[in-house]
Amino acid sequence: MPRYYSTHRQFFKGLAFLAGLLQDIGMLALDKAKPDLYKNISFEQSKHEALCKLERDVLNADHSIVGAWLLQQWHLPSNLLDPIELSHAAINDTQECESDLSKAVACSSLFADIFIADEEDIHSLLSTTINQAKNIIDFSDQEFHSIIETTSENYSDLAQMFDIELENSHMLEFISEQAKEVLILRNLNQIKETECLQKAAKKLESKTAELEELNRRDGLTKLFNRRYFDESIEIEFKNATKYQWPLGLIFIDIDLFKQVNDTLGHDAGDDVLRRVAEMLLDCTRESDIVSRYGGEEFTIILPGTNEEGVNVTCNRIINAFRNTTIKLNSGKIVHVTVSAGACVYDGNNEDIKDWYELVRQADQATYQSKNNGRDQYCLVSNIQSSDENKKIAS
Ligand code: GH3
Ligand code: MG
Ligand code: MG
Repeated sequence: MPRYYSTHRQFFKGLAFLAGLLQDIGMLALDKAKPDLYKNISFEQSKHEALCKLERDVLNADHSIVGAWLLQQWHLPSNLLDPIELSHAAINDTQECESDLSKAVACSSLFADIFIADEEDIHSLLSTTINQAKNIIDFSDQEFHSIIETTSENYSDLAQMFDIELENSHMLEFISEQAKEVLILRNLNQIKETECLQKAAKKLESKTAELEELNRRDGLTKLFNRRYFDESIEIEFKNATKYQWPLGLIFIDIDLFKQVNDTLGHDAGDDVLRRVAEMLLDCTRESDIVSRYGGEEFTIILPGTNEEGVNVTCNRIINAFRNTTIKLNSGKIVHVTVSAGACVYDGNNEDIKDWYELVRQADQATYQSKNNGRDQYCLVSNIQSSDENKKIAS
């Protein structure tokens, strides 16, 4: 270490020691000047913080202010006075503590109180001191413990130097042990708190994910809802354009669904909607996005699927409904067919500038399937087809 720093450190230590010693000199001065002030104080009031309160109540200033004033009268340097004047204020408001010396003096007052406390108060005093002292100086637990240990070790010598009687010699060992215990308990609590916080964060995370999932699902069919469809088609359209891959879109509308409601009731209609949703999932791939668009209308987004793939899917869907009956919760059997309209964006179509246009064309094609007699699909395409389920939408 350079000599300058070493000398500076020694000087700082000396100054800190002196400020620490003189910080409560105001109390002696007050006792001399106002002998009644401390005369009838109770045991509780004899504690440092309570004493300060008593002084402030009576004099509107505590002994730290009085001490600093006295030392000023004695022409001691201001870098010694400020830490003494701030020694109490700094404990409650750490912003008051700007210099290292002020911090050291404020902390020394806290530590000193531990060594003059009664045995039964030491544990709780150590707990509060750790928090207060750590607020002023960012001690590690180890540093805190080492201050207590070092003070205990040097206590006898210092007591002798200042002609103080050590009333109970086992107290030093007791304080040291209590400090260890307080630190262990504190650590355990911190671990527990961290665990609790982690658990709470995980719970919140999964709750958020749950809510997000719920937010994108249709309550009746559990398929994706309209909002999620709108978000997805926008994203998939952008991806198809960017990577120049195809994007298929199929609209599906249940044929004459109103009749189901009208003849079998709304609950039966709901049963059918749920079953239709299951069948659509069975007819599609994991990567396809099946949504309830509204009422008895469904959509399927097929990323990366060309006209051939869309044709295969449409045929599978039309045939599935044509060849299957639906068993309702009531046990009744119904049969429904569906009409579909499909459109494929190849990532670069001249006539499809945005996803709205893709949706509009698929919807239009569905309308055409209905007009052509239902139970079929229309694909917006230039390619001729001989498939009986398929009509080319114009
Ligand atoms: P089309 O073949 O022309 O599509 O005839 P459709 O009867 O299927 O079409 P329309 O639009 O006339 O009737 C749709 C019906 O779907 C009317 C409406 O009450 C019913 N619907 C919409 N949402 C629900 C729902 O959540 N549950 C039930 N049970 N019915 C619904
Ligand atoms: Mg409809
Ligand atoms: Mg319909």
